[in-house]
Parts: sequence; structure tokens; C-alpha cells
Amino acid sequence: MTITIRDLRVITTKPGKSNLVIVKVLTSEPELYGLGCATFTQRWHAVVTAIEKHLKPFALGRDVTRNEEFFRMAMVHSYWRNGPVLNNAISGVDQALWDIRGKLAGMPVCDLLGGRQREAANVYVHADGETPQEVTESVLRYMDEGHRHVRVQMGGYGGAGGKDVRPEGAPAGSYYDPRAYCRDMLCMIEHVRKVVGDEVELLHDIHERLHPIHAIQFAKDVEQFRLFFLEDALVPEDIEWFRQLRAQSAVPLAMGELFNNPLEWQPLIEGRLIDFLRMHISQMGGLTPARDVALFANMYGIRTAWHGPGDTSPIGHAANLQLDLWEPNFGIQEWYEAEDMDYELFPGLPEVRNGYLYPNTLPGLGIDIDEDMAARYPCEDVTEFWTQTRLPDGSPARP
Ligand code: MG
Repeated sequence: MTITIRDLRVITTKPGKSNLVIVKVLTSEPELYGLGCATFTQRWHAVVTAIEKHLKPFALGRDVTRNEEFFRMAMVHSYWRNGPVLNNAISGVDQALWDIRGKLAGMPVCDLLGGRQREAANVYVHADGETPQEVTESVLRYMDEGHRHVRVQMGGYGGAGGKDVRPEGAPAGSYYDPRAYCRDMLCMIEHVRKVVGDEVELLHDIHERLHPIHAIQFAKDVEQFRLFFLEDALVPEDIEWFRQLRAQSAVPLAMGELFNNPLEWQPLIEGRLIDFLRMHISQMGGLTPARDVALFANMYGIRTAWHGPGDTSPIGHAANLQLDLWEPNFGIQEWYEAEDMDYELFPGLPEVRNGYLYPNTLPGLGIDIDEDMAARYPCEDVTEFWTQTRLPDGSPARP
């Protein structure tokens, strides 16, 4: 008997710093449902509306076992496509259908993909501080917990700021000085490396804050400190510059969290211009396109490092892990350090021990949500400040 999509519910909640959007697909089997991440935290109302008003009427009554067809048809059904709102909406249903397929088969999703190639996924965590000494202490604390991969930032993305000279009347914003950032980060990374030694892997995220030629200069200067990878050295609009960056520096490059169109990752893979793909799975449309691009990248010797900060929902983290366990070209997984409350709200959320993220033995994505508890932490309307990024002269910059 065909099992169909009976209903589609959107669950919104904000247990921590981020508004989260989750899709629950209910089926014609009373006990059978699936969960998927549709979190676009800065525009969550838009995603909720896209799901409830547009995707739900399209999805109801469809065969839950035809998840591949659902993804392909949903991507073109709106005719205009590849935007973050619609991709996130589709991801919510796509991941939920994979979850359902796994539950029907009695298998974790990684088994449906081809089977597990590792027992757990290496993760990296985020160290930060206001001074090189504070960052170093943070790295040492993580090393004590067994972590072997640590991203080092100082003063947040773009550096601490505050040293910039602004013109009179400069508007409010999240200011940073690209040149001061380069100087400060090199000092910080040099200090951390000197103190912690060579065995711990260090990562750094430029977060697209530099002009292309300065990013190239930075990549050359930082090469001596042997980073595991340098992330988002360029903005998506400047990806043509990767060719020059690649020619100038052997620092491993990671890119992709803002990508939502295959035309963005395709030339970087074909040109072997980066080393790690790190798309945000819900932003690219779900597990199905992530599976496709992982295999494509594997043919070019490029590994994955899926985006996994706090504005990926725990459902999204569970989906990341299923890919990580299966992929032939898994590189590393970003991890957001879940709070105790997250484990209560999302039973089955994977756990980290000794720098490894471990799955449980449940089928599907292996994760659930306590909807009553989620309702006690409603989403909030906030106008983000950190994305109102400005250069010292007050002009808008990319966050
Ligand atoms: Mg990043």
C-alpha cells in the first residue's frame, strides 16, 4: 500500500541564540513521520510562509518513497529557483522524506546512502578571545577536552574593531578595518601556533571580509602556520579570484556556506580551486543535492566540511552527520557545542566525545523534537546587527 504525505507542519523555536525552522512531515501511517531542517534564521517568516502556502499544497498526497522525484520536481515547480528561502523550504521536506525512508527501512540514512565508512565524524569547534593569549587559552581548553581541530578567531568576524577612524556622522553598524584585521590575525595565529605546537589542527574563517588581493596576501602570510583550512577567503561574487589565490598559496581553502546555486560550486570543483566544500545543507535544498555534490567533488579530490554553526538546527546537524558517516570524501564537520537543553528538546541529537561526533543507533536521521517544549521557546523578531557590517569610512560591507 502506498504511504503518502498526509500533512506537513512547520515547527519554529528559539531555544538558544537562533530562530530555528523545522518541518514535520506526517504520513498516512499514523505513527510514521519525518523531520527536516529549513532554518534560514534571518528570514524565518519567509520560509514558514513558503512552506505553508506554497510547498504544502504541492506535497500533500505524494508517495513518501519517491523522495528523489519530490526534490527534483519541487526545485522547478516554482519556475524561479535556487533562492535561499525556497531552498530551505524544500530542504525541510527533503530531509524529512529521507528520515521517513530510513524509518521504513529500519536503517540510519547513511545506510541508505551506501553505508557507513567511519564510526564517527571528526569535528572542529570555535575558539575566540579578545587577545592572542585569550584565544590560546581557549584552544588549550578544547585540547584538554580531546579536540584535535579548533577554529581560531579574535574579536569575532573581522576582528575586534574599535581602532578604526570614522568620519563625522558615521552611522551605527558592525565596524571593522580589513587592514588591521590582517595584521591582528597573523599575530594571533602565530602566537597560538607557537604555544600549542604543531599537533593540533588550526582553522580560520575570513568570513569574506577582505578585498581579493588582500585575501591573497593574507593566504600567503598565513601559510607558514600550517592551517587545516582557511575559510571564505573571498565572497561568492569574487570566486573567479580563486584561480589567482590558488596559484599564490598552498594554504588549504574551504568555501561555500553562502552558495545556493549549483553554478557556484561547479567551477570551483572542476577547476580544483578549493579543498573543502562547506555548503549549508538546508540552504542548498537538502540532503539530496548534498549527496550529489559530495560524489561530484569526490571525483576531483575535494573533501566536505558542511556548515554546522548554531543556526543550523539540531535536525540539520543530525543530517550533516549521516552524510559525514557515509561520504568517501569526508573532511571535517563544524560543530556548535550543543547545550544540555538541546539534548532535551531534540532527543537523539548526536554527541561529541574526544573530538568525534557519534551517531546513535536509531533509524532515519535518528533525532526527534519535543514539540511542547519547543513551544515554550518561541521565535523572536530581531533586526540583526552583526550583519549590518561597515568599513571604517561607514560604507556597507559584506558580513
Ligand atoms: Mg564560515
